[in-house]
Amino acid sequence: MKPIYFRRAIRNRCPRCGEGPVLENIFKRHDRCSNCNFEYSREDGFFIGGIPISYGLISMLWIVPLLLIWMLGWISMDWLLGLCFGGAIALPFLSYAYCQCLWLGLYFVFAYNEMPNSSSHRLDSSSVD
Ligand SMILES: [Zn+2]
Repeated sequence: MKPIYFRRAIRNRCPRCGEGPVLENIFKRHDRCSNCNFEYSREDGFFIGGIPISYGLISMLWIVPLLLIWMLGWISMDWLLGLCFGGAIALPFLSYAYCQCLWLGLYFVFAYNEMPNSSSHRLDSSSVD
């Protein structure tokens, strides 16, 4: 396991070199790293893995808190349903590119042996654990 790849992805950095940004903006991902030229997509459909990450984040950070707020009686059922449906429509659009970035990092945490070597790669001298 190489959690550094995920830590780099959380900061929107290339999992390989940790320098180039993965995302061009909130809606668009670069195809390659601007620093090390690492191609982010591993195969067709690779970034579909961002969908369950988006689903999980929205559920845990939006739906569950709204349910708790509703159970405490701070908002009505109408507000709960409106905010849940509104979030279910808007938040995937806003979070999907970042979730693709997280997926990229998470993939290489476990599939670190698929990470191509680079002369500027900081992990080259570290041991594999
Ligand atoms: Zn890079």
